[in-house]
Order: sequence, then C-alpha cells, then structure tokens
Amino acid sequence: MPKAEDGHALDYVNNAADSNHEKYQEGRQCDGCAFWAGEESDGWGKCRHPQFSDVLVNANGWCSTWVPGG
Ligand code: SF4
Repeated sequence: MPKAEDGHALDYVNNAADSNHEKYQEGRQCDGCAFWAGEESDGWGKCRHPQFSDVLVNANGWCSTWVPGG
C-alpha cells in the first residue's frame, strides 16, 4: 500500500509538527487518533477513515479529522 503524501486529504501531513492548520494542536498525531488502526511497519500504519483507505499514514502524521483515541 502506498504511503500518504502531504495533502492527501483533510489537510494531512506526515509530520504533525509541520501543520499550520488552525485545528492542529501540539501533541496530536495519528497514533493518538481514534482512526489509527495500528502500526504495520517502520512507523506507518492504516487509518480507518474512508479518505485514507488506499494509503498508509505516518504514526507522526495528522489530519483535520483527528479525534482522541488510538
Ligand atoms: Fe491520522 Fe486520524 Fe487523520 Fe487518520 S483520521 S490520517 S489516523 S489524524
């Protein structure tokens, strides 16, 4: 499965700290998100959100649909 690139959907970035989105808050990232489905390898894993069904996202990534969980 390909790895997501910055801007894939929903203002996604592979490095949360790179986000300048108004909703981004420090410390929030994919592996702490309810949509995170767990790491597959090397810091990359699946996201359950439909807009990321065809890519792997980075544990350190972030998008504007982030919700607490993980
Ligand atoms: Fe990451 Fe959550 Fe967005 Fe999926 S929904 S890309 S796990 S922040």
